[in-house]
Parts: sequence; structure tokens; C-alpha cells
Amino acid sequence: MYIQENVKLADLTTFGTGGIARYFVNIETQADLLEALDFAKTKNIQSFIIAGGSNIVFSDNDYDGMIIRINLKGLELVGQMLHAAAGEEWDDVVQFAVDNNLWGMENLSSIPGLTGSVAVQNVGAYGQEAANIIDTVTVYDRQTGEIKDVAKSDCSFSYRSSIFNSTERGHYIILKIIFKLSTTPAPRIDYPEVIKYFSTKQITDPSLQQIRDAIVAIRAVKFSQTTDGKAGSFFKNLYLSPAEYNKMLEIIQAKKPELVTELEVIKNKFPTHDGHIKIPTAWVIDKVCNLKGKKIGSAQISETQALAILNINHQAKSADVKTLIDLVVSSVYEYTGKKPDVEPELVGF
Ligand SMILES: Cc1cc2nc3c(=O)[nH]c(=O)nc-3n(C[C@H](O)[C@H](O)[C@H](O)COP(=O)(O)OP(=O)(O)OC[C@H]3O[C@@H](n4cnc5c(N)ncnc54)[C@H](O)[C@@H]3O)c2cc1C
Repeated sequence: MYIQENVKLADLTTFGTGGIARYFVNIETQADLLEALDFAKTKNIQSFIIAGGSNIVFSDNDYDGMIIRINLKGLELVGQMLHAAAGEEWDDVVQFAVDNNLWGMENLSSIPGLTGSVAVQNVGAYGQEAANIIDTVTVYDRQTGEIKDVAKSDCSFSYRSSIFNSTERGHYIILKIIFKLSTTPAPRIDYPEVIKYFSTKQITDPSLQQIRDAIVAIRAVKFSQTTDGKAGSFFKNLYLSPAEYNKMLEIIQAKKPELVTELEVIKNKFPTHDGHIKIPTAWVIDKVCNLKGKKIGSAQISETQALAILNINHQAKSADVKTLIDLVVSSVYEYTGKKPDVEPELVGF
């Protein structure tokens, strides 16, 4: 194991901001991990876990601690249970499942990052989410030093959330995930972009591989247009109780009456199972707040996807990114009465 010193944080994430980390280590075995944690303890410094760095925004301040990148490898099929080490490239795991005719993760193709992270924010796309296929998460408990299995039922998965990014944030280091997949076809091809893809290609009964190909192709068009720094969606959608929705409606009636009809249509567009009302934050940022394309320094709300903030030419100052995030949060609050949650982990702000 090689502990590097004075490493640029900007090079460790897809967003590309950050100062200098005092120490950085790449973990390839469980023994490496114990050694690295021991090193940090002996030096009495903090440590922070990263993987692919696609959902983290570092501040430009230096990090006087140790960045630990989990790069554990291993992929094994036991019947229809897929055991994947936390450091496996996520998209390789999806391809492996598809190659073995196992359904359940194909719509999560092309999500950047490593496998352990999919449990952290319960990744989701095109109607599938990690929670539907995770059976068990094997973790290292930083408080007790034990390695243990956390059953899916104890992970409290919900929309972009789990114990790993909420109640137990920083408590566990994920080592492995066991996924429960199925050989029974269960195509989920009802998203508008997916329907359009297959109708253009005149495919009516797509195979598992064809569904994966569709998602890869759709995402390639959507995400690869720029070389600017990105970290996916910066804001979670609004999940409103009926009372909260009525409050939002009142505000819109008073401040943006021309949008009331559109809001009432959107209200019924995304059915939920618990009576909540899902309002896309992208719509609020774009149509209600008029912030699409808004730029502060070299930080910009994407012209094409209002949920994304871009680090233009990798020149953005993290302070400008934070100002832009705060502007969106306060503006969305002004028009809806609800602050949107920020999706990437902000470190050192
Ligand atoms: C272009 C783009 C598109 C994206 N599209 C989607 C999408 O469609 N759906 C979606 O849900 N997300 C999406 N994302 C967000 C991101 O890809 C996912 O959240 C992904 O799972 C992050 O993986 P990572 O390995 O890069 O994690 P990192 O960014 O390295 O880490 C994310 C968080 O997980 C923690 N973490 C990582 N590994 C471990 C571990 N082994 N143990 C404990 N904690 C750990 C980190 O501390 C951090 O809090 C997108 C991002 C980008 C840049």
C-alpha cells in the first residue's frame, strides 16, 4: 500500500474542484484498509471515503486528513445472486449481469462510479433503483472494527437515500454488495425516451442486451456533450405532502399565476405510493425560478438539464459553486415553500 502525500482533490472527482489532500491512499485489499485507518488514527487525522468521485464536490480548501479510495475488486455469481466488491466499476457489473441473462439492473447502465456507492444514495434511473435489487451490504464498522452484513431491510432505502448517506453517514465503509437478480424477464421500458428509442428502431420486444444498449445510447447523448466538470443532478426532486403542495400552489397562484395550470398537470404526472406529490425540481428551477443557464464565475446551471451544475472548463471556484447552490435552494424555497435537498456530498465547505 502506497500512501501519497499532497494530492490534488480536483483530480479525484468528475466535478473537478478542490484543494490539496494531505494524504491519499488507494485501497485494494481489506488489509490495506485496516492499515490506512490505523495510519490515520496514529496521526490523529480525519479520513474520508471516496470511490469514483462522481457524486462529491470538494471545496478549494485543503483537506488536512486522509482520502481513502475504495478499490476492492471481485465479482462472483452464486445462482442468481451477484456478489460484487465495492471497487468494481458499476457499469462493468451491469454488463456482467446482462451477459449472464440476469434482469434487474439493466436500466442503471452507464451510471458513473463504483459499485459500493450505488447503495449509498440508492441510485436510480429509468424506473429502476438499487434498492430493488440489493439483498445484503457487507460493511466495515468504523466504530467497532467489525465486518458485518447489513440486510436490505436495515438500509432504510428511499428516494436517493439510505442509512449510508443519512443516519449512519460515515459509520460504515461498504466492502461488498450482494444483488438478487432474476432470470425472469421484467422489461421496464415505459420511460418516454426509452419508448422513443425503440419505436425509432422498430423494436417491439427488446432483449435484455437491447434494453441495456438503449440506456447506454440515450445517456451517451444526454451526458457526453461537454467536457466540463459534472456531478450528475445537484438537487433532489421535491416530495411534498398534500398540505405542502397546497402551500406551493398558493405561492404560485400569487407570484406566477401563469404557471398554475402547468403545475396542476405536473402534480398528477409522477404517481407515488404514499400520497406524496412529486414535483420535478428541474421544472421549478427552469420555469418558475428562471435559473437555467445561470452562471456565477465558471459555475453554471446547465442549459440543457436544470438539475445539473457544471464546472465550466474546470475553472470554477468552489465558493462560486456554493453560491449557485445556495441561490437555487433559496429561490426554490421562495416559490415552493420547500428547500430541495442537495444530492452530491459537499466536503470541506
Ligand atoms: C454524468 C453523471 C450522471 C449521473 N447519473 C446518475 C443517475 O442517473 N442516477 C443516480 O442515482 N446517480 C447519478 N449520478 C451520480 C453518481 O454517479 C452516483 O451517485 C454514483 O453511485 C456515485 O458513485 P461514485 O463511485 O462516483 O461515488 P463517490 O462520488 O466517490 O461517492 C459518493 C458517496 O458515497 C460514499 N462512498 C463511496 N464509496 C463508499 C464505500 N465503499 N463505503 C462507504 N461510503 C462510500 C462517499 O463518501 C460519498 O459520500 C450521475 C453522476 C454523473 C457525473
